[in-house]
Amino acid sequence: MSNFVTHLECSKAGDCYDHEEINNLSKINKPLFVKYDLERLKNSYTREDFVNDFSSLPGFWKYQYLLPLKNKSSVIDLGEVITPLVRISKYENLFMKDEGRLPTGSFKARGLALGVARAKELGIKKIAIPTNGNAGAALAAYATASGIESFVFCPKDTPSINIKEAEIQGAKTFTIDGLINDCGLIIAKHKEKEGWFDISTMKEPYRLEGKKTMGFELAEQFNWQLPKNIFYPTGGGTGLIGMWKAFNELKKLHWIDCDLPKMFAVQSSSCAPIVKAFDQELDYANPWPNAKTLASGIRVPEAVGDFLILKTIRESNGHALAVDDQEIIEERDNLANKYGFLSCPEGAATLAGYNKALQLGLIDSNETTVLFNCATGLKYPMPEVNNKFNDQ
Ligand SMILES: *Cc1c(COP(=O)(O)O)cnc(C)c1O
Repeated sequence: MSNFVTHLECSKAGDCYDHEEINNLSKINKPLFVKYDLERLKNSYTREDFVNDFSSLPGFWKYQYLLPLKNKSSVIDLGEVITPLVRISKYENLFMKDEGRLPTGSFKARGLALGVARAKELGIKKIAIPTNGNAGAALAAYATASGIESFVFCPKDTPSINIKEAEIQGAKTFTIDGLINDCGLIIAKHKEKEGWFDISTMKEPYRLEGKKTMGFELAEQFNWQLPKNIFYPTGGGTGLIGMWKAFNELKKLHWIDCDLPKMFAVQSSSCAPIVKAFDQELDYANPWPNAKTLASGIRVPEAVGDFLILKTIRESNGHALAVDDQEIIEERDNLANKYGFLSCPEGAATLAGYNKALQLGLIDSNETTVLFNCATGLKYPMPEVNNKFNDQ
């Protein structure tokens, strides 16, 4: 495996950290970014080498030159796939990237696969995570597959499938009377004593590298012409920040020369800290009180990467949009019964956000636009069925 990593860098202060050491946040408690020697990469491989699967690595693992693994043997193969772009409407240019096809049924697989693989390379034996569900399941699966112990903390009203799938895949799973941030506090309090590595969103550098691969897939799927707009259901924002990192790496390598997409962050109006900060032109978001939304994956009242999400939206000329839970349900039901696409609530939120952006004139329906269905709809509660058949 060719490795082009040079060091880690604080995303705020820009100081350097050693990637051969175990790292969480920087000295000023901000996320760390993995830096690559792009010049050497450009002189070693072409973009065709980059996307061609000479080493038969499954799914996103194949983008190995821009990933942080040292050894090919560190790849944890659970049958990853390049996720499809599904047409979900009358609009020619509107695509749903269906992340529900990944192992564990959500795009959390991308981040946790890389996070766990690097943890293993660094000799970590126990990993803990605060989660709204999907990240816990993905950690459980990848940790178990690589012989690492995992500890999952989730709010007690997390969708019950999420709690059970984490436990059955080998994580010691705990439910907490509180939100994801409360779960994070418990881990912070006990991690030293328990010997846990804290793999919380954006609090270690490698989950972002996994999420970044969504950007590489889009570049490849659109034949190096990126879509005009991307709508991303934003909780911790890893995917949004990650794709932006991916696009900028490709740009610096001169492997793309198109304009970069406008990045739209979609949140629920009952948990919309990023939207509020965007509207108020703030650089950081304030914690959202009493966060509640049925789109549990985006029920994140406070994100460590808040300033990176806001920076990405602004740099890309995108926008932050809030949609009501009612609209989310309506779009979920529309997608299912008009187009045969069973989305997760967060995926439906991106469609509601797209409609809102059209109404506001922020985008045009003939622009190529990608929405994200981040998890399979099968993980979430669905309406009861009680039709009576008259068998006369
Ligand atoms: C985690 C999650 C999100 C939010 O992803 P971030 O990258 O943390 O913003 C959205 N939808 C689903 C289904 C999720 O599991």
